[in-house]
Amino acid sequence: MPIDFTSLPKTELHMHLEGSIPVEALFALVKKHNRLDEAPSVEHVRRRYEFDDFAHFLEVYKWTVSFLKTVDDYEFIAYEVARTLVKQNVWFAEIMVGLGNSVMYGGHDPVAIVRAAWRGFKAAEVRHGIRIRVQIAAGRDHGADFSLDRLRDIEPLMGEVDICAFNMGGSEHVHPLPQFAKVFRRAHDMGLKVSVHAGEVSGPQDVYDALDLHPQRIGHGIRSALDPMLMDDLKRRDVALEVCPVSNECTGAVARLADHPLPRLIQAGVPVTLSSDDPAMFHTSVSREYEVAHEVLGIDTSTLVKIAREGFRRGFMDEALRKELLQKFDQEARHWCNARDIVFPE
Ligand SMILES: [Zn+2]
Repeated sequence: MPIDFTSLPKTELHMHLEGSIPVEALFALVKKHNRLDEAPSVEHVRRRYEFDDFAHFLEVYKWTVSFLKTVDDYEFIAYEVARTLVKQNVWFAEIMVGLGNSVMYGGHDPVAIVRAAWRGFKAAEVRHGIRIRVQIAAGRDHGADFSLDRLRDIEPLMGEVDICAFNMGGSEHVHPLPQFAKVFRRAHDMGLKVSVHAGEVSGPQDVYDALDLHPQRIGHGIRSALDPMLMDDLKRRDVALEVCPVSNECTGAVARLADHPLPRLIQAGVPVTLSSDDPAMFHTSVSREYEVAHEVLGIDTSTLVKIAREGFRRGFMDEALRKELLQKFDQEARHWCNARDIVFPE
């Protein structure tokens, strides 16, 4: 029987702000900036979010970012994105604010947009109780010096905005991670946690390279399933993968959702969490990722409740908050399981 995971308490640890703008909110920006000729209705915006391949996806991503014209737009989308999480009973989220496209193509001041996004997240916390942290994200494609410059830009904000981590995405095949070692060293020196997209479309070597950067988590990392030694390494080093199955199908990282390696990773004991990546653009949500894992990949509900708990164990938050949220999770998730005749995982 299909199970609705919406009401299960969850985290969202891998989500890009710009890829998560609900279509209605993006349409509001289309109208605000007088660009109805490009998308005359919400339905048109929805249809723009259909991709042929990864290159097309990046093109649409840039189109979306082109509607973020002012700092108020960032504050607005940050609040709207947070609301989508509140509706799914997400209690803690880390949201990546991408400084690549916004600075390179949008001409924005990185400090101003991080501040604006933070205002939106805080407003959501005050109104709805959700806890949100900012991850600063940059792309491999912009080069190591670009990322170093952005880390320097945001350093003065660190007492003011809860910036928990540095993250890097971008073209894995073109820009191998060893050339970014100095960027990650700098991030660690600044006291930031680190997650890095790796092994999403390229092979296990990319994940080995990522491990050399000493991340606490790895984004995707699904190609690790091709290499038993690497899976052992992830387990031994206790580095969790942020797995986003629907995204992997949409970008072609896996040919068919049914062939997704998540069950193999779980079987091998690799720590995993579940996330939605760019939910608006991939027509998904964090709840839907749990549904897909259950219905398409055959992962049993008790294991999925354990994965939800893992999100609270792996989230970049202080230990007092972790303790509070884990206690609350154990209470509420137990009720959630009892009401559905599901064994609560001990
Ligand atoms: Zn991502």
